[in-house]
Amino acid sequence: THVIAQPCIDTRDQACTEVCPVECIYDAGDQFLIHPAECIDCGACLTACPVNAVYLETDLPRGWQGFAEKARKHFGT
Ligand code: SF4
Repeated sequence: THVIAQPCIDTRDQACTEVCPVECIYDAGDQFLIHPAECIDCGACLTACPVNAVYLETDLPRGWQGFAEKARKHFGT
């Protein structure tokens, strides 16, 4: 799955929601979050994000790995 990390907070650009082909990016309040079970790993959001907030889960920088757990908790997956 892809994961939206720290730079989305206070940015919330929404470019990702416009390009996601399966509409699996949801407004979670302080940031947007990707539904881990719905994401098809197309990478479109990663390219579209103007603040480089999106990562493949396995590529998340150290220190931002908690954002994968944040998404799982949010969606209950
Ligand atoms: Fe949507 Fe593709 Fe991004 Fe997954 S990687 S959230 S399917 S745009």
